[in-house]
Order: sequence, then structure tokens, then C-alpha cells
Amino acid sequence: MPQQKMSVTSKILLWMISGLIVGSLINAFANEVMFIQDYLVNGLFHVIGTLFVNTLKMLVIPLVTFSLIAGVCGTTDVSTLGRIGIKAFLLFMLTTALAITLAITIAVIIGPGEGFDIKTVGQTELTIPVAPPLTQIITDIVPANPIAAYANGNMLQIMFFTILFAICILIIGERGRSIAQGAEKLNDVMMAVVSLVLHIAPIGIFALMAKTFSLQGWELILPMISYFSVVALALALHMTGTLMVLLKLLGRVSPLIFLKKMRTVQAFAFSTSSSNATIPITLRTVEKRLGVDNSTASFIVPFGTTINMDGTAIMQGVATVFIANVYGINLDISDYFTIIGMAVLASIGTVGIPGVGLVMLAMVFNQVGLPMEGIALIMGIDRLLDMMRTAVNVTGDAAITTIVAKAENKISMETFNDPDADQVEEIHLPHEAPLPEK
Ligand code: ASP
Repeated sequence: MPQQKMSVTSKILLWMISGLIVGSLINAFANEVMFIQDYLVNGLFHVIGTLFVNTLKMLVIPLVTFSLIAGVCGTTDVSTLGRIGIKAFLLFMLTTALAITLAITIAVIIGPGEGFDIKTVGQTELTIPVAPPLTQIITDIVPANPIAAYANGNMLQIMFFTILFAICILIIGERGRSIAQGAEKLNDVMMAVVSLVLHIAPIGIFALMAKTFSLQGWELILPMISYFSVVALALALHMTGTLMVLLKLLGRVSPLIFLKKMRTVQAFAFSTSSSNATIPITLRTVEKRLGVDNSTASFIVPFGTTINMDGTAIMQGVATVFIANVYGINLDISDYFTIIGMAVLASIGTVGIPGVGLVMLAMVFNQVGLPMEGIALIMGIDRLLDMMRTAVNVTGDAAITTIVAKAENKISMETFNDPDADQVEEIHLPHEAPLPEK
């Protein structure tokens, strides 16, 4: 019988689950074994996992830059950019508001935290993060120093500078053409690097999962099970319900095909807990597997990673109701509206990196006067929920990109509907470097 090759997605999922099992076993049975902790968890797993995440982060800025230049220069009519931006922005806000409304509704119905005994949970030490004011969020969009923006990886600033730069390449006309073509080729090169990374991903993801689950025991969840399961339920409903209904109604595309093609992206988001580090994989999937045109994807994906966090909003909604219940504080309908508004605003000002959801939660708590100690209560299990909500965050980014692309006729439905579109191929390194053309 001919041997069927396993797809990269299947390999990634298999290694991800293996990492989860190995990590959980170490946590349960070898927590005190110094040899395993030193050489395996904090040695091998740590080194491989960090190398892998660093490799992903390394790709984000050059990929976004070249892809955006190629994308803007590739649009036939620059005025469409504004329209695409506004559509994406409004949809991002809408999905975040829907996500947190769903979360609050479920949490109010189920009522996690009622009768909760605070003493059952070991409090994690708390450092309250400081949130930037809205005025600063707005003024920060324009970088006073683009080099600093690049060095700090400030995505909105990088996007602002790059889009302006790309529009001016178009303005100078014929003289700018070679720069645009160069950016297109550099974008192809970066995409090839992303494909290479996909080949090493199974082992990188295994290491990340094994390390996380070695350090994070499942028993922490038990006393917090009501909070944990309501967040998980709301995340699942938003991902498979709200987003899919929007894809079907507004995008008129098959949610099933979409979800199937998103599995690799979700696995990356889950294991890295960072939608930012996942950008290379999201961009590649949205363009090559879902068929969205580079001119749309290059713009909406990094934009969404920064301003759209549905999963994070869900955690905030449930956390607010949970903590209010724990401390016996009554929230009324106007508080809930404030929470929804704050969560939407907070998502604009923060970038998708691990744990940033707690920073946003502090902003929300501040606004409705909930005790900050409440955050310490949920911090202990935030690592696991962070993984889950990041997977929902990237799914939201890709769903809105697909919907806007469909509305703008910037999607190849042939690619979208083709299950094998751009599956990652075997790598064939050239034996000889190509000779320069004479
Ligand atoms: N880790 C999330 C992300 O990168 C943000 C958060 O919820 O903490 O999307």
C-alpha cells in the first residue's frame, strides 16, 4: 500500500498534543526531579521553545513591511485602502463588542464565583500594570522616530510609516516602480522563510507545550473551575458561532473550509500565546490558503493583530462578572455597558502579546471600581486561558480579513475552496546557487 505523507498541519497538531501530554506527565510525576527540571524543562524545552518563538518574532517586522509595501503598491486605486481600513476597523470593533456581550451574558446566566471561598486559591503576587490614556494611544500612532518604532516593534507606528512610504512610491510614478518590484520580491523571500519555519514548527511547538505544561499544573484549575469553564465555553461559542455566522452572512463563504484551514494558525497562537508572533503564519494562511489578495491581507492582518482581540475581550467580560460575584459587588446594566466600551477601547491600545489581557483587565476594573486584588485571583490560571483566547484572537483577525476581502472582490474563491491550496511542500534546496544573469 502506498504510504500517505502526513501534512504539516497534522504533524503540528500531533506534536502539540504530545507536548501537552509530556509536560503534564512531568508536572504530575517529576516535579521534584531536579535532573528533569534542569536538563529537560529549563534546558532543552526552554532553549528549543525560545529559539522557535524568537524565529517567529524575527520574521514579523520585515514581513509586514515588505508585504505592506507590495500590497499598497499593488492596489490599482489607493482610495480603496481607506475604505478597506474603515470596514475592517468597524468589523473589528463589532466582533469585539459581540464577543464581550456574549461573555457577560453567559457569565451572568451561569454566575461563576457565587459562594466562592477566596482562601481556596493561592494568591499570585500582583503588579498592577499602568494603562496608557486614550489621548496617548491616538498620538502614538504617528512615530516621531520611525527607527525607534521598528526597534520597539510598535505595529501601528510601523504600519503608519510603511503605508505613507508606499503611497509615496506610487506618487513618484515610474521612478518608484523598481522599489515596488523590489518589495514584492523581498515579500516572496520572506514568505519562503515562513514556509521553512513551518517545517521546524512541530518540534518548536512540542517544546513550547511541554515546557508550559511542565510548569503549569492542571490542579490549579480545580478551585477556579467555574471561571475557567465559562471562559472556555464563551470562547468556543464565539469561535464556532458568532464568527462563523458572520463569515456565512457577510462573507458568504464556507465556515467549515475556513476553520479547517485555520488549524495551523490556531496551533501556533495556542502554543505561543501571542497573536503578534503568529502574524507570519496568519498572513501566509490568509493569502496562500484562503486566497485573500496581498493588497488586503497585508493591511488587515497586522492591523487586526493590534486592535482586535475577541478572545481577550471574552476573558475580560467573564472575569468582571466572576470577581464581582466573588466580592459580592452588584453591577448594574450601565456598568456592563461601561465594561463593553472599555474592553473595546482597551483592545485598540494594546498589542497581542502574552498576558496583555491582564493589563487590559486592570483598565476595565479601574473604570467600574472592582478591586484590583481580584486580578491576582485569576492570574494563576491565566497562562492556560491566554493560550485559548489567543487562538480565538487570530481566528477573528483572519475571519474579518476574509469578509472584507470578499466584499472588495479581493479573494480567489478557487483558492479558498481548494482543500489542498498551498499545502506546505517538501523543501528542495538548490544544489547550485543560480548564476547571475548576464
Ligand atoms: N496573548 C493574547 C494575544 O496575543 C493577548 C492576551 O489576551 O493577553 O492575542
